[in-house]
Amino acid sequence: MPRPITAIIHQQALAHNLSVARQCMPNSQVFAVVKANAYGHGIERVYAGLEGADGFAFLDIEEGARLRALGCKKPLMLLEGIFAFEDLFACVKHEMSFAIHSRHQVQWLKQFAEIAPDAHFDVFLKMNSGMNRLGFEPQQYAEIWQELHQLNNVRSITHMTHFSDADGQRFGQDGIQYQNLIFSQAIQGFEGKISLSNSAAILRHHQTLHSDIVRSGIMLYGSSPDYPTHTIQDWNLQPSMSLRSEIIAIQMIQTGESIGYGSKFIATQNMRIGIVACGYADGYQRLSATGTPVLVDSIKTQTLGRISMDMLAVDLTALPQANVGSEVVLWGRSSQGVALPIDEVAASSGTIGYELMCAVTARVHFQIDA
Ligand SMILES: *Cc1c(COP(=O)(O)O)cnc(C)c1O
Repeated sequence: MPRPITAIIHQQALAHNLSVARQCMPNSQVFAVVKANAYGHGIERVYAGLEGADGFAFLDIEEGARLRALGCKKPLMLLEGIFAFEDLFACVKHEMSFAIHSRHQVQWLKQFAEIAPDAHFDVFLKMNSGMNRLGFEPQQYAEIWQELHQLNNVRSITHMTHFSDADGQRFGQDGIQYQNLIFSQAIQGFEGKISLSNSAAILRHHQTLHSDIVRSGIMLYGSSPDYPTHTIQDWNLQPSMSLRSEIIAIQMIQTGESIGYGSKFIATQNMRIGIVACGYADGYQRLSATGTPVLVDSIKTQTLGRISMDMLAVDLTALPQANVGSEVVLWGRSSQGVALPIDEVAASSGTIGYELMCAVTARVHFQIDA
């Protein structure tokens, strides 16, 4: 029998979460962001759940090729754009759009127009409205837009920017106001669709932001972008990945005894401990503190002591019925339907749901819950 740790992908939860994005933005096209192999879920595993999206956004051409191989006919776009001139051949082959955030990319397009006059691209012109990662300054934007507009191989230009603080405050103010103002002023008078919102902006600012194409990522995967301000229950989202394993051993320990490497947990009473087949080599955070929530037989308990490479310990003192073979949910949903939001688990190691779901390692077996 294989080691009992399994990641289960819930396709209905993905479809449900997509419908939440749609309800928020009924007049927008909802693109599903499937970068990082669909946030660690696997593009092929999420596809049936997210098929209804109006398009897909990602970073690697190979991810787009995989979507096309699945039969996807929807618009595809590269969020960071192309990385080299040659990438344009693949964009033609797979009919992919891309962001343009640098002058290099504009040059490559110009060059391409000379050798492939029949190729046409729908591009997303990216403005740096304050995030300071990618994009053109608002002052340069008009000039670049004109330059692109004159290229024969540019069929359409969508105005694009990305918010740094849609999940909270920026300089003491509502996190998107400032960037949205800069953006709106700079695109004034230029035709084209608008693509703004990530999950936090979709959930928190859908009443005030106009965005023809939204880029919905983390919310599709059942993690709240502004946890702990809002939980997935608050946003009506469902976990799309469940990391489940089993108890493989039981230990009875006495007051004063310790558990695991470094004896980081010392019992102050007699305890019943379960050893779970899950460790940091499966992608569970080693930095998770004692007290990180887990479900055993659908009942919430907690980890104790250090996380090892292949194992972790949980408190079964109040769970006398739990035994070797009992189901353990590290995050997601139990087979009985009880939820343990990934955000609660991530918080125990000072990180976010995004990182946990992206970090599940190759040795973990995946299953699809259709
Ligand atoms: C990752 C990404 C998104 C999606 O962000 P979420 O917070 O996961 O919704 C949207 N736009 C861009 C440019 C991104 O890189």
